[in-house]
Amino acid sequence: MKDFIPYVKHHIDSDDIEAVVNAMESSFITQGPKVVEFENAIAKYSGAKYGSAVSNGTAALHIACLAAGLKKGEVLITSPITFVASSNCGLYVGAEVAFTDVDKYGCMSAPSLEKTIDKLKKQGKKPTVVIPVHLAGNVCDMKAINEISRQHNLTIIEDASHALGTKTNEGPIGNCKYSDMAVFSTHPAKNITTGEGGIVVTNSEKLHSRLNLFRSHGITKDQSVFEINDQGPWHYEQQELGYNYRISDIQCALGISQLKKLDSFIAKKRSLVKKYNSLIEDLPVHHLDEREGVKSAYHLYLLNILSLKTIEDKKEFYKHMHSEGIGINMHYIPVYRQPYYLKTGLYNPSDFPSAEKYFIECASFPLFVDLEESKVERVIDTLKKVLEKF
Ligand SMILES: *Cc1c(COP(=O)(O)O)cnc(C)c1O
Repeated sequence: MKDFIPYVKHHIDSDDIEAVVNAMESSFITQGPKVVEFENAIAKYSGAKYGSAVSNGTAALHIACLAAGLKKGEVLITSPITFVASSNCGLYVGAEVAFTDVDKYGCMSAPSLEKTIDKLKKQGKKPTVVIPVHLAGNVCDMKAINEISRQHNLTIIEDASHALGTKTNEGPIGNCKYSDMAVFSTHPAKNITTGEGGIVVTNSEKLHSRLNLFRSHGITKDQSVFEINDQGPWHYEQQELGYNYRISDIQCALGISQLKKLDSFIAKKRSLVKKYNSLIEDLPVHHLDEREGVKSAYHLYLLNILSLKTIEDKKEFYKHMHSEGIGINMHYIPVYRQPYYLKTGLYNPSDFPSAEKYFIECASFPLFVDLEESKVERVIDTLKKVLEKF
């Protein structure tokens, strides 16, 4: 068999390794200066005031929901075309989850958000948090989502797990111009890595201190907010039920080193996307391009394969590509199709026609920093060959 090309692969070089070794040889291997340095570097890069780094992107979404005050009796609204973490975070805090349909970019549709809110309210339910997901590094229609959400007093948490490094006409993703918080993941599949990791950025001092509280057991050592008298120098207080979601200095040392390379990673991926786009011009496929005014960090290269009409077609297509060594992947199975969600009886796939169509047609193609242009040609040659069968 020809060598296998995965859909994504992290890039770690000798600078990164040296940074990690240095962190391991220092006096702190967790909760030391590197965590704060990483948080400040990500906040600065993404245009936010504050960052709270945690053990993974899922934990970041969880503490964002906690800081937003989401709870039982309320509803979180997100897009179904996402990783399950974007909606599980609502379930963690006892809320219900509702989904919108998606737009032509596979992102939360703003008109569908408005309809979903109206429908929930008619049912006597209480939507309080919305999580738009910036699929593949492209950006949701945040201006429209913000307008609708503000009318209904929803807290907006951007799931920007794919979009660290994405720029828009209105600044970098993470500046929270149209949101309360934004979440990034630094899992190895994402734009930069800390092994496992995640971070919430915000411009609100209040949210930032809530996030830090929930990250670390709900415990504070800040005298100025103590609820009982300071009993001595050992005193600390648990004021909320928090978690141990901390990230280590070792991981943050890697993240700081990786962040320095992010712009060059993105430039390389953008040039590969350009190459891909030039090769697919005459094929019956559609690239999910950038929204106007967006310069995507391209976490993923997504194509709609227009001739796929059923799940069976998709299965065959997938099998043929993989047998030729092309590791295409699927982002994502609509979350409402997961057995855990279906069992609630709350969701009906026919309520989401665009997400269903996306599910049948969409595939992610190999895109990563060390992918050679010649491999892009091999991917598209294979695609051409396989498409003859459909
Ligand atoms: C990766 C990802 C997450 C979760 O991040 P982890 O760091 O893997 O926990 C959440 N949402 C989306 C859209 C993701 O792709």
